[in-house]
Amino acid sequence: MGEIRFQNTLSGRVEPFVPLTPGVARIYSCGPTVYDFAHIGNFRTFVFQDVLRRFLAMEGFRIQQVMNLTDVDDRIIQNAAAAGVGIREYTENYVKAFLEDMGALGLERPEKIVRATDHIEQMVALVERLRDRTYTYASDGSIYYRIAKFPAYGKLSKIDVSGMQAGARVETDRYEKEDVRDFALWKAPKPGEHFWETRIGPGRPGWHLECSAMAMHYLGETLDIHTGGIDLAFPHHENEIAQSEAATGKPFVHYWLHGEHLLVDGEKMSKSLGNFYTLRDLFARGHKPSSIRYLLASVPYRRQLNFTMDGLQQAASSVERLRNFAARLRAEKLPEGTTPGFAERALNAETEFLAGLGDDLNTAQALAAVFDLVRDANSAMDRSEFRSGDAPAVLSALDRFDRIFAVLKDRDAERLLALGYGTSEEISRQEVEHLVAERQAARKRRDFTAADQVRQKLLDRGILLEDTRDGGVRWKRK
Ligand code: AMP
Ligand code: ZN
Repeated sequence: MGEIRFQNTLSGRVEPFVPLTPGVARIYSCGPTVYDFAHIGNFRTFVFQDVLRRFLAMEGFRIQQVMNLTDVDDRIIQNAAAAGVGIREYTENYVKAFLEDMGALGLERPEKIVRATDHIEQMVALVERLRDRTYTYASDGSIYYRIAKFPAYGKLSKIDVSGMQAGARVETDRYEKEDVRDFALWKAPKPGEHFWETRIGPGRPGWHLECSAMAMHYLGETLDIHTGGIDLAFPHHENEIAQSEAATGKPFVHYWLHGEHLLVDGEKMSKSLGNFYTLRDLFARGHKPSSIRYLLASVPYRRQLNFTMDGLQQAASSVERLRNFAARLRAEKLPEGTTPGFAERALNAETEFLAGLGDDLNTAQALAAVFDLVRDANSAMDRSEFRSGDAPAVLSALDRFDRIFAVLKDRDAERLLALGYGTSEEISRQEVEHLVAERQAARKRRDFTAADQVRQKLLDRGILLEDTRDGGVRWKRK
């Protein structure tokens, strides 16, 4: 086990990772809000969390990772009410889609994936604990957290609470940055909306409460690592600290790891800006799961990553280069024996790879070590200086690489097919409909160039479109 260091948002420093229990890593990762499909910005954070767990496992840690599914919040309740279905029914499809998407991207399943709505009892108990310690007050049927009673508030996000107005409250879970307010732990029911009848009154949990209650329920009152995207540091994680530490009097989390955003044209990819792609959008355009995974993993999580189609193409060629090399290594008839120094060269690459990851998951450094090795091995092969005895050390380095990046073994076709996307020339109905909808949307916003491009793309794949008089569209295979 080499040294592992993480940039800890709480201390603001890079620190050696020392778990509470030797050999065990207890991790809580904020999961998706299941009110829609996750976009690839969300998946950048989930890929970072996956790289983290894979690396710690490779370093010999037993991983206990819990990820939540936020299956109750303001948007879910509103959308479900608008659709006239229960929240469980409403979220079911998105939970399913999320698990499928995880599979497509080769994300390992956390030991536990838990739903907020299955843990109302733990949330109620946490509110009671806070109430007993006088951290709460009631107002209009809701229960709020009194931030003024928790002097350490702001220690994670370094937010200044001095300008806070005592008693200023906010109901909504996701509010603007730098606006410190007492937040709702428990929200009064609204007419026609879903609520639970509980010991602390009727209502529903606030988002922050969900994560504190579930994290401590499964992982104990102090955990090693808590992860999420950087936008969650304030207020979500700050509020989690306030709730958990006020209730237990113990530190809640030792290492806070926050992933930087995936950007589009310099702005955060987000649902509200409309500048997002889901995985399925990209699959429908013919991109492979491995390219997306590679792209998201290749930039160290603490750096912003600007998403472009060019970048995605480059990621695809990097994966291709590695796959070609692995195939060459298997197929090439190598001369017997060993080349002096080559096994050592490969071993160094492996050490570099691990050192990169150990340095706050510096995936760029780790990848550079692998690509240098591949370049050297390729040119040694060209010169017939690569011998059969050199192969095992190189294969071992590749194996290490793939235990983290998980793109070498080509499972793209099978993963796409599992989601209903064909990779063969025969385009699936689902893909056609997706593209047709994309073209309709382009026409609606009068972007006829984009609409024509989609029509051409479909034509290339054997699909004829016929616009109907009523503005609709029919399609058939050529
Ligand atoms: P949500 O479903 O909004 O709760 O978000 C799920 C996860 O995705 C959280 O950890 C967010 O911080 C993260 N996230 C949201 N947008 C982005 C983005 N553009 N880039 C990276 N991570 C993001
Ligand atoms: Zn959370």
